[in-house]
Amino acid sequence: MELKCAVQNYHWGKVGSASLVASFAANAVTDFKLDEGSNYAELWMGTHNSGPSVIKGTGETLPEYIKKNPDCLGEKVLERFGGDLPFLFKVLSVRQALSIQIHPNKSNAEALNAKFPDRYKDSNHKPEIAIALTDFQGLCGFRPLKEIQDFLQKLPELQTILGEASTQALLNAKEDDYKDGLKASFTSLMKVEVDVLKKELENLAARINDSEGLQKDLFNTLNKDFPGDVGCFAIFFLNHVKLLPGEAMYLDADVPHAYLYGECMECMANSDNVVRAGLTPKFIDVDTLVDMVQYKCATAEEQKFPGVTDSLTGIVLFNPHVPDFAVNMIKISSNSDCFSVPALDSISILIFTKGTGKYLVSNKVVKEGGLSVVQPYASDEIKLGTVLMLPAHKILEVFIEDCDEIVAYQAFCKL
Ligand SMILES: [Zn+2]
Repeated sequence: MELKCAVQNYHWGKVGSASLVASFAANAVTDFKLDEGSNYAELWMGTHNSGPSVIKGTGETLPEYIKKNPDCLGEKVLERFGGDLPFLFKVLSVRQALSIQIHPNKSNAEALNAKFPDRYKDSNHKPEIAIALTDFQGLCGFRPLKEIQDFLQKLPELQTILGEASTQALLNAKEDDYKDGLKASFTSLMKVEVDVLKKELENLAARINDSEGLQKDLFNTLNKDFPGDVGCFAIFFLNHVKLLPGEAMYLDADVPHAYLYGECMECMANSDNVVRAGLTPKFIDVDTLVDMVQYKCATAEEQKFPGVTDSLTGIVLFNPHVPDFAVNMIKISSNSDCFSVPALDSISILIFTKGTGKYLVSNKVVKEGGLSVVQPYASDEIKLGTVLMLPAHKILEVFIEDCDEIVAYQAFCKL
């Protein structure tokens, strides 16, 4: 069945028809009227309180529907997660950087929720995956030690911020023994006094355009959008990851990250737990942050999360080995008249992000004597941004029409 979804107009979203979220919303959102002056940041597909999807035609919300029809989740999902969808699936259109953040692992989430229930509202972990729809940029994980040390040597401004002891601790760190030095220097950065930070940002801004190899484009953009923010120096610690369409990065627990620019599919466990670290006017819980961050250095390339292509169907599976979600990337070329998306033992949510055609959802019923018959269940046109909720064990057939390629993303639980 088709879903109507919620749009979130956060200020960092792309504006008007430049936003992919807005172009999907024309079909994915009830009575959507594009305003060329508004920000369209996120399209939410799921049951989250702050924007539950609605079933087209009936007007019933998805959480209401699932409550009445728990079988649609599939036996394993129902058993493991109870009667709710364990993931939230999104489209993001990013114009301006989101805050640098980490998400606690399950046990830290439980501890934080027990200690600060107002700030950390639930006890769930929040792993996330981002799959690029357009050229996409983010910050993710600590850079290789050598890169951070090279920046530090070229940046007297950063040395002043870190102070003598932390600067030396980081410069003396070794490939096989760097955690303490990295933690000491990252902590000094996060705890820098506002006046010192502002002065050193000014100093660096005044000379960066005449220097080489100092990430000047990224620095200038962030320094313009977030003046006086500690995140402008965090770029010398964190990898600047660039994804091509179809490439992904997985944000495991405790990995510092931020989305910078572009459009992506995002899937996450159902949680709001965020510990912020910069590029934000919001509260930064520095002590929690510096204790919880995973101090692990790796290259930008190593931050990418490879999908696995099924040789039979060509479907690319992004499976980050958490029970909460996995994502299929489905590409259908005009060579095939009809493409069958295999039935899953889990509920799934699927969005068409490219192409046009028709779809047919059917039930496979096995009769006595082993004879199986297919009963049609729902069918309609495929447009850009058509969103389907597929109950477990349903077959989806896609008929491509008037285009070269259909692309769809399908979030589900792989248990
Ligand atoms: Zn995040």
